[in-house]
Parts: sequence; C-alpha cells; structure tokens
Amino acid sequence: MHCEKCIELFVEYTDGEMDPEQVARLEEHLSDCPPCLDFLKSYKKTGPVCKEALKQEMPSSMKSSLSQFLRDELQ
Ligand SMILES: [Zn+2]
Repeated sequence: MHCEKCIELFVEYTDGEMDPEQVARLEEHLSDCPPCLDFLKSYKKTGPVCKEALKQEMPSSMKSSLSQFLRDELQ
C-alpha cells in the first residue's frame, strides 16, 4: 500500500467504517511506516476539522507536498 492511499483511508479508518480486510492492510502499512503512523496520530488529535478537510477532494498540490513530506521523513 502506498502512503497516499493509506492517508486517503484515514477518514474511514477513524470512523470505523472500513472493512476488516482493508483495516488489516492499513495497519500493516502503519506498522512499517512511522511517518504515516505519526500522521494518523496527529489526524486523530486534530479531529473533526482535519476530518472535514480530508473528506473534501484533496488538492493535488497538497497531495504532492504531503507525499514529499513523507518521503523526506523516510530518509
Ligand atoms: Zn506510509
């Protein structure tokens, strides 16, 4: 699973609306990807505001800067 896909799934994940198979794949990614785990933690903390923002279609510029950020974190 790619980081971008993982982040897109956070809304469903935190809502508990995800099917168990996807939850397993997401958690597998999170266990192996600290930046995404950190992002999920801050996502949970910021709560509704961030959730609404993620429910909107994320602008491609935001997506690319986010994935750039994640790549930097991984290095
Ligand atoms: Zn990731």
